[in-house]
Formats: sequence, C-alpha cells, structure tokens
Amino acid sequence: MHSVPAMRNPYLPSRAILREVIPETPAIATFVLEPSEPFSFATGEFVQLTVPGVGEAPFTPSSSPSRTETIDLTVMRIGTVTERLHTIAPGAILGIRGPYGRGYPLEEMKGKPIVLIGGGVGLAPLRSLLLALLDDPASFSRITLLYGARTPEDIVYKRLIPSWRERIELRLSVDRGTPEWKETVGVVTILLDQVDLDVANAVAIVCGPPIMMKFATIRLLDKGFPPERIYLSMESNMSCGIGQCRHCTVGPYYACKDGPVFAYAELSGLSKIWV
Ligand SMILES: Cc1cc2nc3c(=O)[nH]c(=O)nc-3n(C[C@H](O)[C@H](O)[C@H](O)COP(=O)(O)OP(=O)(O)OC[C@H]3O[C@@H](n4cnc5c(N)ncnc54)[C@H](O)[C@@H]3O)c2cc1C
Repeated sequence: MHSVPAMRNPYLPSRAILREVIPETPAIATFVLEPSEPFSFATGEFVQLTVPGVGEAPFTPSSSPSRTETIDLTVMRIGTVTERLHTIAPGAILGIRGPYGRGYPLEEMKGKPIVLIGGGVGLAPLRSLLLALLDDPASFSRITLLYGARTPEDIVYKRLIPSWRERIELRLSVDRGTPEWKETVGVVTILLDQVDLDVANAVAIVCGPPIMMKFATIRLLDKGFPPERIYLSMESNMSCGIGQCRHCTVGPYYACKDGPVFAYAELSGLSKIWV
C-alpha cells in the first residue's frame, strides 16, 4: 500500500523570533525577524506575518534577498495588526508564511537603466530591490531612486541614504519642508523632471500610495515610457495569500499570486486599479 505524504497546512505559519526593532519615523519601524526554518524570497515577493492573538497581514521584505538568516519588514502603524506589532519587544515569537506572489522582473531589468520611484512606506520593497541591484553591479550600472515623503521626519531609512548616495543617483522630496530642508518640496513626481531619463531603454518601478502610483504612471507615460516598462506594486486587500479567497482581485488577476508586481501594460485596460 502507498503511504500518503503528509501535506503541510498552507495557512500554518512557521515561527520567527523578533530580533530587533529599528524606528524609522514616528509611524514606521523596521522589524528584524529570524525565521526558525530556512526562509528565502525573491525581491518583491511578500510574506504573511502573524502577530499572535491579533491576526496576520501581508508585507514585502525590505532586506536583501541574499541575506537569509534574518528578514527585515518595514511596517507602518495603521490598524489592528500593525498597531500591536509596534508595541512588541525583541525576543517575541511571531509567525511567518510565504513567500508569495510574483516579485520584480530582475531578468528583464538586466542591462537597463533602472528608475525606482517610491512614496512613504512604499520605499520598503524598493529597498529590497535596490539591495538586490547593488549586489549585481555588472548587470545594473545605472540606478536612479526618487523618493517622496510627507515631511523630512517621515523619510524612512534616513541612516542608510548617505551611503546609497555614494552608489546611485538619489533625489528626495517632501510635501511640506522645514527651514533646515535643502532638497525638493513638492510631490515626488516633480523629481522625474529633475533627472535625465533614458526613456528609450529604462525600466521604472513604482511603489507607494495608490494616488502617488497613479500620478507617477501618468507622468512616466507622458515622458514616453511604454506601459510594459512601468512596474507597479498592487497592494490590494489581501487575505489568504494563495489565490483562494478572492479578497485581492484586480480585474481578472489575483494580486497575491499574479502580482503584487504588475507591468502597467497588464492593468491599463482595467477599471478601478488605483483604489
Ligand atoms: C503585498 C503587500 C505588501 C505590503 N507591504 C507592506 C510593507 O512592506 N509595509 C507596510 O507598512 N505595509 C505593507 N502592506 C500594507 C499592509 O499589509 C497593511 O497596512 C496591513 O495589512 C494593515 O493591517 P492592520 O491589521 O494593521 O490594519 P487594519 O486593521 O486591517 O486596517 C486597515 C485599514 O483600515 C483603517 N482603519 C483601521 N482602524 C481604523 C479605525 N479605527 N477607524 C478608521 N479606519 C481604520 C486603516 O487606516 C487602514 O486603512 C502591504 C500590503 C500588501 C498587500
């Protein structure tokens, strides 16, 4: 008689120890997790994080995919799960399952100039992508990062930005400046007019609030970027993470397994993609 192999419950998280909490802004922190089992991901894929007794929520790791002993999640405090997560101290046991979805198209991006456009906590997945690109300088020689936040205080990774500036072109904008702020004031899309874009070859990757992704996409299209070279992270309302529950449909797609990264060419004919 054949023995039936034991099937792992796909909803069952594995344990991860919270090793460190790094405050980024008043509402955002980076949580460094050490999974109890080997855990790897491709940049742009997401995980479901369980906060015991509260629930789970999806997040895209912000660390390099080549760092496997720990995983960083940069999380904004916004509702039930994230509020509780922000109160938890290092040493606590959390749950993690995944990775899920389709991440960034690194193979297609190879050899091309890359423009990363981030807003708010949307810099989290882009940090993971940036680290993956910097790991392979022979394939990704020209990288531009344009990042916008509400105020200087709301800029994430302030401690890392100076070292990134030594390797890539990086411009910052804030909606509301302070007397000390010496960089751009205005919405992040303004930064697209300040850099010399190789529209004929470049790939643009956008992640941020829906309204920011909408206007960044419009500006990129105006500048001549073809829809198939503009990539967006669609963070719609996800639940199961494995294409079962239909919470996260975007037109004919499930954001959890067909995305969360989509080329705009896949979405442009659909209605209500920016909600
Ligand atoms: C693929 C993917 C990747 C993601 N990656 C990241 C990431 O890297 N970092 C990150 O920070 N987020 C990320 N998100 C978003 C993150 O998943 C959500 O912020 C998270 O699920 C919120 O969970 P919650 O239980 O804290 O909020 P919920 O309690 O589910 O609340 C969600 C919404 O309800 C509103 N709300 C909550 N409580 C109230 C209230 N009392 N009154 C009125 N409105 C209320 C909140 O403002 C919010 O808009 C990602 C999402 C997806 C789908």
